[in-house]
Amino acid sequence: MRVMKFGGTSVGNPQRIEEVGRLVSDSTPKIVVLSAMSGTTNDLVAYSEYLYKKDHSKAKLLLESMRNKYYQVADELFQSEEYRSHSHRMIDSHFDNLDEFNRDMFTQHEEKTTLAKGEMISTALMTYHLQEKGITCALLPALNFMRIDKDQEPDNYYIRENLQREISQYPGINLFITQGFICRNAFGEIDNLKRGGSDYTASIIGAAIEAEEIQIWTDIDGFHNNDPRFVKKTSRIDELSFNEAAELAYFGAKILHPTSVRPAQDKNIPVRLKNTLDPDSPGTLITGKVTGTGIKAVAAKDGITAIRIKSDRMLLAFGFLRKVFEIFESHRTSIDMIATSEVSVSMTIDQTDRMNEIVSDLENYGTVEVVPDQTIICVVGDMIGESRGMAVQALEALRQIPVRMISYGSSNNNISLLIKGSDKIEALNSLSNHLFQGR
Ligand code: ASP
Ligand code: MG
Repeated sequence: MRVMKFGGTSVGNPQRIEEVGRLVSDSTPKIVVLSAMSGTTNDLVAYSEYLYKKDHSKAKLLLESMRNKYYQVADELFQSEEYRSHSHRMIDSHFDNLDEFNRDMFTQHEEKTTLAKGEMISTALMTYHLQEKGITCALLPALNFMRIDKDQEPDNYYIRENLQREISQYPGINLFITQGFICRNAFGEIDNLKRGGSDYTASIIGAAIEAEEIQIWTDIDGFHNNDPRFVKKTSRIDELSFNEAAELAYFGAKILHPTSVRPAQDKNIPVRLKNTLDPDSPGTLITGKVTGTGIKAVAAKDGITAIRIKSDRMLLAFGFLRKVFEIFESHRTSIDMIATSEVSVSMTIDQTDRMNEIVSDLENYGTVEVVPDQTIICVVGDMIGESRGMAVQALEALRQIPVRMISYGSSNNNISLLIKGSDKIEALNSLSNHLFQGR
């Protein structure tokens, strides 16, 4: 069995839905995971914000414009009156439900139900579409098997057992459709895997059924060796190891959600990134195998804040780092990069909602300096300790750019460099010229 996940733009209009329909309708057994149509989850977030603010009229306007958009999609997608009215009834049932939230109290619980609607609708539309075309398929409701535990981690045993049970209800069927992103939590309530979580769904499902391959379909042909939004000449990377892919995904390459590498890696299931606009391109294959050495790609992660704490004592006393880390832990803020010297330690974070509390706690131990608007440049590849010249190549490329922090050697796959956000484009282009010329 194979898992194929299609993102929001891949199902973003009736033509794209038809295209996905074509891509999934061969006879290979598969589970198709869909995101909401692009823009929908953002609209549902906006709807929720209006309801929290009790801005009923704005909420109503937004909801009705969404409802009309979906009517239009359905009218274009379906050929027969039967399927049109069928889909209008489905759309109405979701939007009537959302409209009720505009009259009653709105809590986190209703918000989660609201955010789940996009995937519910996109999967219903796809299932109807395939059925209208005469393609046999079944919709597996993610809320019947996808579950997270008290620590927000996937409950793998529950997922495996319940997914098997759902599938076994349809003997002889080879094509299953399900929702990405949505799940139930430890209390059985509707919840989700956080924004962009459909990739994670695909990987969790792939691991649960021990799929032969997990395919993530978007609108770019795999990982590129640099960011195509800022650098003109980039090229596709054919193969990456799980570790390299995880670093790239975490540090900015938007194509794959960082959490989605782990489940596949744990079960050693290949992940292939594919392009809906160019389905014949092989894309990027991610496996446990390391192919080639040297620097393979660079990526950038924006919105980074650097924090430096200089110990008041002459030397870093033992226990100092532990205290510093405990402060971040107590504010549930994770540290990305770290560099230490004898008297000070520098760290970066990308989540600043507890900044003031963190700084005031840190000030008990030393002088604190905070520098916002930084960017992490992440240089990824297979850089075993004995290989020569990799760090030099990266630094050489950045010789014109002030580098605030460097992290090298923590893994064999990554050199991270912290620079000013405003230097990012120059840095990416310069790295491209130095590292990938002629590739
Ligand atoms: N629809 C959700 C979002 O926009 C999940 C996803 O697309 O992966 O975040
Ligand atoms: Mg996505």
